[in-house]
Amino acid sequence: MPISGKDWVTMTDEDMVKLFKPTKCMTCGVTLHESTTGCRVVEGGCQCSDCYFKDFSEELDHHPIGIPRMHRGA
Ligand SMILES: [Zn+2]
Repeated sequence: MPISGKDWVTMTDEDMVKLFKPTKCMTCGVTLHESTTGCRVVEGGCQCSDCYFKDFSEELDHHPIGIPRMHRGA
């Protein structure tokens, strides 16, 4: 179905969503926009930058990157 200028004006947000099928964050469900929320492709879907970095930092907490520290003394 072609869309005329008039259709754009009368379209509801819901119709827009159906038309463009925006990608949503698989974690928080926010509609992803590359320039505002970020759009990170991850295993199983996409995430906004907030969720991506949150998961990323949690992952780092569990698996710290770095050289094992030598403990002095003890
Ligand atoms: Zn998110």
